[in-house]
Amino acid sequence: MYDAAVQNLIDELGRLPGVGPKSAQRIAFYILNADSAEMEKLTTAISTVKKTVSFCEVCGNVSETKLCAICRDERRDPSAICVVEEPKDVVAVERTRSFTGRYHVLGGAINPMAGLGPDQLRIRELVARLSDERIQEIILAMDPNLEGEATATYLSRLLVPLGIRVSRLASGLPVGGDLEYADEITLGRALEGRRVISEGMRAEAKDAAADFEEAMEEEAAERAESAPEPAPTKRWSGSMFDDIDGAQEESGEQGSLNEELLEQTLEEQEVSTSEEERAKRRASYEERLEELKKTPLRTPTPKVPPIPGATYVNPWT
Ligand SMILES: [Zn+2]
Repeated sequence: MYDAAVQNLIDELGRLPGVGPKSAQRIAFYILNADSAEMEKLTTAISTVKKTVSFCEVCGNVSETKLCAICRDERRDPSAICVVEEPKDVVAVERTRSFTGRYHVLGGAINPMAGLGPDQLRIRELVARLSDERIQEIILAMDPNLEGEATATYLSRLLVPLGIRVSRLASGLPVGGDLEYADEITLGRALEGRRVISEGMRAEAKDAAADFEEAMEEEAAERAESAPEPAPTKRWSGSMFDDIDGAQEESGEQGSLNEELLEQTLEEQEVSTSEEERAKRRASYEERLEELKKTPLRTPTPKVPPIPGATYVNPWT
């Protein structure tokens, strides 16, 4: 154990973020060995910061005055607000020189494990700022981690019903990185958030294909109307002849046409032939029939087992 004063310094340094016990010990001994004037500068810097610097009343960024330099700057676009977790995130976005709007610092992210809920963050202040009519868009720039996701989801649910444009920073691939080394989540997000460079001509071609199909369907429908489909025939329900009987009944047009034709021919025959002529024809017909009966069947009687309950009738005997 060190003397109480040294141990106290080590303990205090060890409470700083990112400083472990070993580092705290190393820094403490650096301070002990360092020049007094140098260390005076450090203590003054710490006490000055604590005395003079506080947080901007509007955005929550660090500021020596009531309003931070960004909030005071009239040239900054008042229509867009970039919401970040910490003041250091403001510095990070500012370094890009891509954003000319204003900021809102939440002072952390929703983290139930650390007891940080929406009430502990400067969310109420953000909603109050929206009464400014000039604000058109809120850009959610949370850290891409679990807490950041939770905060962004909470904020979007809160802000979307207010009718304001809400956007989020795209997640993607680091510049100078390698696709094959990107983790699945980053690569997946990069795909989701891909940017269109050109809509291309295929969109029109797709429409053309759809039009063609539509035209084909219309044509098919017209054809179906002009030529009605044949009546569906029953198969193997009841007698196998049901089909044929049904088909004959349903094709009424053809049947009537045949009847007409038959009547016509009969009438013509009646007109053109006399009684004698008809008797002669009948005689010749019967003669030919007799002759035909004498000649044997060209096809033998089929050797199939007889249908039970039905008798095979040879028309030639
Ligand atoms: Zn400010």
